[in-house]
Amino acid sequence: MKGPLDPSVYDTTRRVESWWEASAPSWRDPGPLSGEIQTEVAIIGGGYAGLACAIRLGELGIGSVVLDAGAIGWGASGRNGGIVGTRSDKLSESALVRRYGEKEYGRYVEAAVAMNHQIRTFCLENGLADCIQGDCEFELAHSARTAIRMERSQSEYGIELTRLPPDSAPGIRCHGGQIIRPGFGIHPLRLVRALADRAQALGVRVHPRSEVTLWERAGHGHRLVAAGGAATARSVVLATNDFTPDGLNHRFDGRAIPVISNIGVTRVLTEEERASIAWLGGNPGADSRRLLSYFRLLPEGRFLLGMRGDVRGSEAGAARMRRAVSARIAEQFPALAEAEITHFWRGPVCATASMTPSVGLLRDDPTVGHVFAWHGSGITGAQLGGRLLAEVIAGKSTDHIPAPLRGLAPRLPLPGLRPLYVGAMLGLYRISDALS
Ligand SMILES: Cc1cc2nc3c(=O)[nH]c(=O)nc-3n(C[C@H](O)[C@H](O)[C@H](O)COP(=O)(O)OP(=O)(O)OC[C@H]3O[C@@H](n4cnc5c(N)ncnc54)[C@H](O)[C@@H]3O)c2cc1C
Repeated sequence: MKGPLDPSVYDTTRRVESWWEASAPSWRDPGPLSGEIQTEVAIIGGGYAGLACAIRLGELGIGSVVLDAGAIGWGASGRNGGIVGTRSDKLSESALVRRYGEKEYGRYVEAAVAMNHQIRTFCLENGLADCIQGDCEFELAHSARTAIRMERSQSEYGIELTRLPPDSAPGIRCHGGQIIRPGFGIHPLRLVRALADRAQALGVRVHPRSEVTLWERAGHGHRLVAAGGAATARSVVLATNDFTPDGLNHRFDGRAIPVISNIGVTRVLTEEERASIAWLGGNPGADSRRLLSYFRLLPEGRFLLGMRGDVRGSEAGAARMRRAVSARIAEQFPALAEAEITHFWRGPVCATASMTPSVGLLRDDPTVGHVFAWHGSGITGAQLGGRLLAEVIAGKSTDHIPAPLRGLAPRLPLPGLRPLYVGAMLGLYRISDALS
């Protein structure tokens, strides 16, 4: 796999040293693809998007295979912050309404809210009840001006907002904020493995360690070649998000923009440290900056904080970002300043030039589907996108996909320069955060 970041980012043989890997029970790995197989739909990428698409296809009676280059959950789906929110874009509400109209905006938000509830139900019904935490998300205002903007926001399309007065979140520097429902925390690796189990129960073939290295046309369909075998299918779905490899299918080159997100998890907090963030309970939270921090008190009493930073993903950058996460914890949560980080890892989140997801079929080749670009908020979005795409493959019109999710993001000029674009974007966000 090859992309614009440091080669180590794409090395699927490297274990992700996350808290999730350390705390998940062992799981029966289905093993790589071997030999030639034929199926209706071949899906590249075994994260939430690819698996949700396969599950929905299975529910509709359509057979599929899911091929992933790494272990199941090796991608972002097994190593994220586990914060289950709703929207997966990087635009303001007003910008979305201007671009797509109120009706499509409403359809999008309602569908994301419904997906959020569906994920909770899935967890409850599939042995993951113990990894659901909380029933809302805290959004903390980083400035007085942002707090005023939040006061004006309205509950709509199934999203419920409750004002959080400034003195109700002691232990963090903020200007109050809002509580957003629905929202909750989960163990992301257990979730992606449970999705793989569900897909297999529906007859889907799921093959980790099966990197697709060649994608060729075969009659009216496609043939995907991996090290141990090949899959021939009527349709192909690309669900590789930020790991979309350059050169596998030139139609997708240069559209996904990887932005690195870094996560630190501390040792188990002391009683006193825990008391300082008692207001958070088991709910996840984030601040309102564009270069936000996101955080959770985990069921084991450890504290998780994630933040953006670094543009290439090199080893040196990792060491720097580990220190930066520690410093951010001390700055935002002074009572936790002594809680050292025991687990640190990172991965790319996927942005696009349109700042919205990319779900649909290629206009000139409807046998190729794509489902990617969740802008750092993909637990809900990727599963929603995967399921909607499956319904389109099964015969629904692409209009079935709400407009903010639909379509293919534009290709960037000089895609090799993506890390530079991201560096510039992070700089602009830093300035806009300081001014807002
Ligand atoms: C550090 C971090 C924190 C995050 N925190 C949150 C959060 O708290 N809440 C939230 O909602 N979202 C969060 N996200 C985003 C979320 O994790 C992603 O949006 C989501 O997991 C994307 O799912 P996916 O299935 O589209 O992609 P992925 O899970 O990344 O799966 C793509 C897969 O494609 C595979 N692949 C690539 N090329 C090939 C090939 N040639 N052949 C076969 N397989 C291939 C890769 O191996 C990879 O496993 C976070 C992401 C990161 C990195």
